[in-house]
Amino acid sequence: MTTMTTPDNSGDVRLSGISKTYGAFTAVHPLDLTVPQGSFFALLGASGCGKTTTLRMIAGLEEPSSGTVHLGDQDVTHLPPYKRPVNTVFQSYALFPHLDIFENVAFGLRRRGIKSVKKQVEDMLELVQLGEQARKKPHQLSGGQQQRVAVARALINHPKVLLLDEPLGALDLKLRRQMQLELKRIQTEVGITFVHVTHDQEEAMTMADTVAVMNAGRVEQLGSPADLYENPNTTFVANFLGTSNLIEAEVDSKSGDDIVLKAAGGKLVLPEARCSAPTTTGGKVLVGIRPEKISLTHADDAGDIPDGRNRLTGKIADASFIGVSTQYVIDSPVCDELAVYVQNVERDGRLVPGADVVLHWSPAHTFGLDAAQDID
Ligand code: ATP
Repeated sequence: MTTMTTPDNSGDVRLSGISKTYGAFTAVHPLDLTVPQGSFFALLGASGCGKTTTLRMIAGLEEPSSGTVHLGDQDVTHLPPYKRPVNTVFQSYALFPHLDIFENVAFGLRRRGIKSVKKQVEDMLELVQLGEQARKKPHQLSGGQQQRVAVARALINHPKVLLLDEPLGALDLKLRRQMQLELKRIQTEVGITFVHVTHDQEEAMTMADTVAVMNAGRVEQLGSPADLYENPNTTFVANFLGTSNLIEAEVDSKSGDDIVLKAAGGKLVLPEARCSAPTTTGGKVLVGIRPEKISLTHADDAGDIPDGRNRLTGKIADASFIGVSTQYVIDSPVCDELAVYVQNVERDGRLVPGADVVLHWSPAHTFGLDAAQDID
């Protein structure tokens, strides 16, 4: 099995103040970003947010309007793509149709004048689990297999960094899910830095150790998938990664490490450390809670709810059974449509549309956002 271990820092990617403007339009605002060697890093964002432009500046396919790009200690800002220790896999696999799979993968070695390529190519085909397909032509492989050939071809010259630009975009959903796990396995095995561009939040969260969420040419938040999901700093991130309930509230007082807030439906408590908004008394905060973190109790049993939970009253407006869970829409004084997901193993048969309920959750699962931001 091929392994490429790089004990130095040559696979670090460091962007310092890089930006890209096209005439009067700024596609990427000055950006500082460090991707540590050996990590699986995702640039995540909606179409047009500047993620591909950022990737292309790392690859050398786009000249930054300002700033520098370092790979390890080397300033590569003005180096052409072929002189950088990086390679890119695109959504269009761009395989050579007339060459078989072996020769497609061998291409980069032969171009460098390397004669004995057999062992390296075989090892690489084994890495991407295509050892049996070496003598087939690209059109005889499935989309997922062709994408694996593209990855093998990009890795054969031992780049320090592999850039992936929506590489799974052309695959159907099932294959996409399989390939996400496959790419993660390959990255772990080769141990080099992967920088992956995607607009699919589930894909970024499945594959990457660190995700940069981009919005309108800026990195809105950077963190591990769990961090971003559990503790978003902006409404954009809260809504882009999954569903969030955002409740308008006002800071009332402080109690130890917690802030006590007034909302239309009553009092809510939030750990101060989980609030990215100013917490002065009277300040406006959007109190966030994920739908699966909320428990639903029929109003008749409200007395059974333990103390110390945030609570709101409401009425079930809609309930959709989706197998493992039921997704409820709740009308409440604080918000017309609160989303609540309840695992069906815990479902109470009285929780049907029209039922009066109490929603309750742990303050520890609550996050606070600056209400002065626009709600995306
Ligand atoms: P997508 O997923 O659709 O590729 P993206 O987040 O990767 O989106 P970019 O391709 O980086 O976005 O483009 C960012 C912005 O820069 C877009 O508004 C795009 O129209 C603009 N842009 C990109 N390339 C050029 C160019 N050569 N000339 C002018 N504007 C450009």
